[in-house]
Amino acid sequence: MNQESLSRLKAAVRDVFDFPKPGIVFKDITPILASGELFRAAIDEYIAAIGDAKPDKIVGIDARGFIFGAAIADRLGVGFIPVRKKGKLPWSTHGASYSLEYGEAHVEIHQDAVRPGERVVLIDDLLATGGTAGAALRLIEELGGEVLCLLFLIELSFLDGRKNLDPAVRTESLLSY
Ligand code: AMP
Repeated sequence: MNQESLSRLKAAVRDVFDFPKPGIVFKDITPILASGELFRAAIDEYIAAIGDAKPDKIVGIDARGFIFGAAIADRLGVGFIPVRKKGKLPWSTHGASYSLEYGEAHVEIHQDAVRPGERVVLIDDLLATGGTAGAALRLIEELGGEVLCLLFLIELSFLDGRKNLDPAVRTESLLSY
């Protein structure tokens, strides 16, 4: 981990108040994506966090997890698997529902996306309540995959999202609030 890079990444995250609803402070990572240097630094830090783990595939969560996850997969020379919101994947899917602060959400993966015994790293941009990542983790495990680690650029630690994740799976975030 490069502390100077992490400070520069943190300084680039833009707080957007009351988006998408009143009371939410949205962590906008588009300034990182818009800078070639910062985007590369973010991918460098995700790769450092993967460490010695040798995944067969990267799984990214809809939608910002696709941006980071695809770049990480390319860097490692492995395939990429999308976990998408309900109704977006064209072929046979396996899905999981989970609770949000208000109501329910549903994520899906293609049934043949992860082969039994495959080792994957799960990527998203942000860990909030942990519902989304927890559901994605379940989907991968139900298909017979092994999640080596869960990685996030940002963790909203005051929401204690880790309580909704399997403590046996290594979980790391690059920036914490
Ligand atoms: P959760 O399931 O509560 O952990 O929410 C995680 C998902 O919602 C991630 O895919 C994030 O991109 C998005 N998300 C939740 N809260 C925020 C926030 N405050 N700022 C930006 N994205 C968020």
